[in-house]
Amino acid sequence: MHIAIIGNGISGITAARHIRKNSDHKITVISAETDYFFSRTALMYVYMGHMKFEHLHPYENWFWEKNRIELINNYVDKVDVQNKQLQFADGKSMKYDKLIIASGSKPNKFGWPGQDLEGVTGMYSYQDLQAIKEFSEGLQRAVIVGGGLIGIELAEMFHSRHIPVTFLVRENSFWNGVLSPGESAMINREIKLNGIDLRLGEELEEILPDANGKVRAIKTKSGEEIACQYVGLTAGVTPNISFLDNAEVETQRGILVNTYFETNATDVYAIGDCAQFKEALPGRKAIEQVWYTGRMHGETVAQSICGKRTPYTPGPWFNSAKFFDIEYQTYGTVLPDNPEGQKSLYWEHESGRKCMHIVYQENDQQVVGINLFGIRHRHEVWDNWLKKEKTLPYVLENLHKANFDPEFFDTHEQKLIEEYNRQFPDKKVKAKKKKRFLERLGF
Ligand SMILES: Cc1cc2nc3c(=O)[nH]c(=O)nc-3n(C[C@H](O)[C@H](O)[C@H](O)COP(=O)(O)OP(=O)(O)OC[C@H]3O[C@@H](n4cnc5c(N)ncnc54)[C@H](O)[C@@H]3O)c2cc1C
Repeated sequence: MHIAIIGNGISGITAARHIRKNSDHKITVISAETDYFFSRTALMYVYMGHMKFEHLHPYENWFWEKNRIELINNYVDKVDVQNKQLQFADGKSMKYDKLIIASGSKPNKFGWPGQDLEGVTGMYSYQDLQAIKEFSEGLQRAVIVGGGLIGIELAEMFHSRHIPVTFLVRENSFWNGVLSPGESAMINREIKLNGIDLRLGEELEEILPDANGKVRAIKTKSGEEIACQYVGLTAGVTPNISFLDNAEVETQRGILVNTYFETNATDVYAIGDCAQFKEALPGRKAIEQVWYTGRMHGETVAQSICGKRTPYTPGPWFNSAKFFDIEYQTYGTVLPDNPEGQKSLYWEHESGRKCMHIVYQENDQQVVGINLFGIRHRHEVWDNWLKKEKTLPYVLENLHKANFDPEFFDTHEQKLIEEYNRQFPDKKVKAKKKKRFLERLGF
């Protein structure tokens, strides 16, 4: 059987590796971006000089041939599901028995005048990185449009090279569609502390060219003209599926799939950023656009393709990111505003750069999620607590078990406990204390 996979990102490559582990099928992976799979999440570190691009390859180049995974660098123009055939941009074609579409995302462009000028890019692909490096030479100001995780990464990248940045964020506080007001305010402060010209509640009107068709300035909705030579479009991403326009594969925003990643077309599956669940799983989004979910999708679909039809059961949501120097982790469901019947226990460090935010059900104090800023917790501990539906007192008493900060870091669990005890004087809890390094040595 011949399995064709469109996309050599985390989801396509994980599917390929697991199909090889479990079968002898012929596997072909096609990508128009790079010859080899790389860690997209670390692209920023190449720009910042922490790593070389070669370091982003998790596998040696011989791995693919040794494991009989054929790699093709080409663009799939058309998918013919009736004849089970792919049409490539260079006119060649290829038959398949089963097809996995893992074509990822592309940066949103909302039809802004000037969005295709020289000096405008997204921050998604290897090609984007190359272009950004090129435009950085002699760059006097970069403007970034769109305040999400990729926008703040791009701001940090330019900041690392001392290039002034203006950051336009449509919302009136950073990422406030995801973060609670206190958390979002913390990140606003962090962005400004790093010298970024953060413009909240501001939108792009148009990008203005110079006489050579290159970016010379942008105009904001409020009418201000800001001189710049580069514009980064980071207003979210959309499933990269335009090559399926006439393919008889059902799509909405993404490629519609069930929990087995099956599409409406026989023997065609979709995974990773480009897939959209017809029905989102409880507590999760219909389109999951993060690294670890891509890996889980790939692993799951490989089981089905190798004869063990397996549904996707990812467990509680989690994610992590970094906002300049503030690390962020989230486990379970924490919304910007608590829904009816849920409450928050919130503690913020006096520095205004660390906080813990636990959300729980009001009736039985079952914990439904936590956000952490500047403090690291262990994923497996939280995954277990959420699956076992632990209550707030239990979690608080055992919070030290989750703490993952290195020895000698300040710990703050006690502060959160004090806050709880203040709010619930008749249900006081006491931490089961973990011995610190020096205590374990008998000091
Ligand atoms: C800058 C950046 C930072 C990120 N940081 C994080 C992070 O810290 N944590 C996190 O969880 N997630 C992060 N993400 C998101 C994460 O990288 C993605 O969710 C993940 O890479 C998606 O994997 P994928 O395999 O679905 O698709 P992709 O990695 O997008 O791979 C799809 C591949 O398919 C190719 N392709 C598409 N169409 C065709 C076609 N027709 N023919 C041939 N090839 C095609 C594309 O060129 C691409 O190479 C980040 C994303 C970006 C851009």
